[in-house]
Parts: sequence; C-alpha cells; structure tokens
Amino acid sequence: MGSGKTEFSARVWRDSQVLLKKNATVVSHTSSGHADRRKVFFVRTFLDEQRFPDYPSDALAYRSGYERLGPNLARIRNSFELEQLIEDHPEAGTWIIDEASFYEERLVYVVRQASEKLGLCFIFPTLVLNFRSDIFNPTARLLLEHATDVFPLTAYCEHPDCVEDAFYTYRWYQVKGKECPAPFFDPLIIIGGDRASDDPSQPNYCTRCDQHHHLPGKEYTYLTLMALGEAWVRGDSGRLERELTALRDEPNESLLAQSLEGSLEVCRNTLLVPFLAERALVYLAHERNLLDEAALHSLVGRLNLDRPFLARRLADNGKVLQNSLT
Ligand SMILES: [Zn+2]
Repeated sequence: MGSGKTEFSARVWRDSQVLLKKNATVVSHTSSGHADRRKVFFVRTFLDEQRFPDYPSDALAYRSGYERLGPNLARIRNSFELEQLIEDHPEAGTWIIDEASFYEERLVYVVRQASEKLGLCFIFPTLVLNFRSDIFNPTARLLLEHATDVFPLTAYCEHPDCVEDAFYTYRWYQVKGKECPAPFFDPLIIIGGDRASDDPSQPNYCTRCDQHHHLPGKEYTYLTLMALGEAWVRGDSGRLERELTALRDEPNESLLAQSLEGSLEVCRNTLLVPFLAERALVYLAHERNLLDEAALHSLVGRLNLDRPFLARRLADNGKVLQNSLT
C-alpha cells in the first residue's frame, strides 16, 4: 500500500549513512551515553515474515527499491524481545519500529523508559487508522498519546479517476474482476493480505480519499447484526440463523442486501465477498463477545460454515479456542 511509510524509514537510514561519514567532532551532538543516534536499528514484526519473499532477508523494501541494513535489522514478536534487542545493541541511538500498533500496549512504556533513561530516539512508521477509519487499536492510541511529533504521511487517492489526497486505508476484495469493498463487520485483522491479490478470499489494500473509501454495512452491523446476536443470546436463535444462512447461500436475500438498497453499485458489490456468514460470526464472537465458544461450535456445526476460514480469522485476531474448529 502506498502510504510512503517505508520510504520515510529508508530516508532516515540513508541520512544516517551520510552522518556516519562526518568527523568524530559531531559525536557530541548525536550521542547520549553509549548510544549514537546516527546508528539506526530497524525492527520488524514476525507477522511480516512472508511479506517480502523476493528480497534479501536484511532488505528494507519499498515501492521503488530497497536498502540493505545488514545486522541492523531484526524481527520481534513482543515488547520483551524489544527490551532484549535494546540491551544487546547499546550503540544504536535511533530505533525504527515498523507497525508498532501490532504489539501489545506494554511496548509503548518500554519505549518511553528507554527514551528517558538512555536518550534513544524512536520512530514508528505505522498506520493509525484501520480499514474502518477507526483508531487501529489501544496500542495505536497510546502511541499517539506519548509521541512528541506526529508526521501525517499523505498519498494520492489510488482510485483511477481521482487526484485528491488520501488519508484512509481501504480494504477490498477482487471478485470476478470487480472491486468489492470489505463489509464493516469484516475481521479487524487479516494476516498476510498485504500484496495485490485476485484471490477473492484475500483482501487488497490501498489508500483512498473520503469519497472513494467505501465501507458498506456499518449501519447494518449496529442496527441489525448486533441485534440478531443479542437476540440469539436471549434464546431467540431463529433470526440470527436465518440471516447467517442467507449470507452463506443467497446474500441477495439477506437483511444486509436489504440495507444496501439504494447504495452505490460498488457498495452492493460487498455481497459478492465470499464467507460473509463466517465474517459476521467472527465479528459477533470475537469483537462483540456475544457468543461463547460452545455457541460458536454449535452454530458452525448447524449451519455447516467453513471451519478452516473461521479458525484462521479467529487466530489472526488472537482468539484462542479450547477446542479447535478444524
Ligand atoms: Zn479519491
């Protein structure tokens, strides 16, 4: 996706390489204790492991090229591994932490302490808003709260007819050659969907302006889907099951389709996205906590929903089940 955040990181790296060639007299301006802010370390999440298969493992890859960082690049899983890295590399004064929102909130305080005690400088090239244009998660909120500077990176809207600035992350699926926006209730995190894909079950992302950022089904989610989930909890199972069955077999007959009557054609294309019933169920079970595990198993069995898809999406979002779905 063309937000420009990796280009930004690469520029910091290139600037550091220029500054490292300066005379030793500059050290007093760039150092605190053992750390020299000209020495840059790039930290990437383990979730990205499959993302750059065509580049060397130490490459910082962006749209128009890549930089090789050698030993100054590492992958971590959590804030504890970041603490260890900082301890192992006391000379590094500038730390670029890619996709910092993907880690637990603790990372924000690890960084804050390292910044205060060791004088380290941290840069977080990260998207702050998710595809629903909401703050990505509690970690993103804390990062914004504690940041001393925030530089919004804008890009052009990637819609072919548009030259406006874009601030929003747009998630869409390509089904039979058509642009199909993700429904509002699509799972928050889908791991692995970062490259252009014509596989209708894998999301595509791009940056879009307000006018071309489509998010169908928001009203339906709050007005209808959640009400059906709450009714199910109270023992009225029929209505939720009828809607999930319609989403599975005949999306055009669903209440979702009804709610989209009169919408733009591109918004109605969301009805072509596969696994709509499964996506709705992940939303109710995981994000809204409306269905416990027993209820989830029972519904999946009765409606014969796609178990591998559900298991993958629940795992992506950190939902641990006692009994596997598959
Ligand atoms: Zn646009």
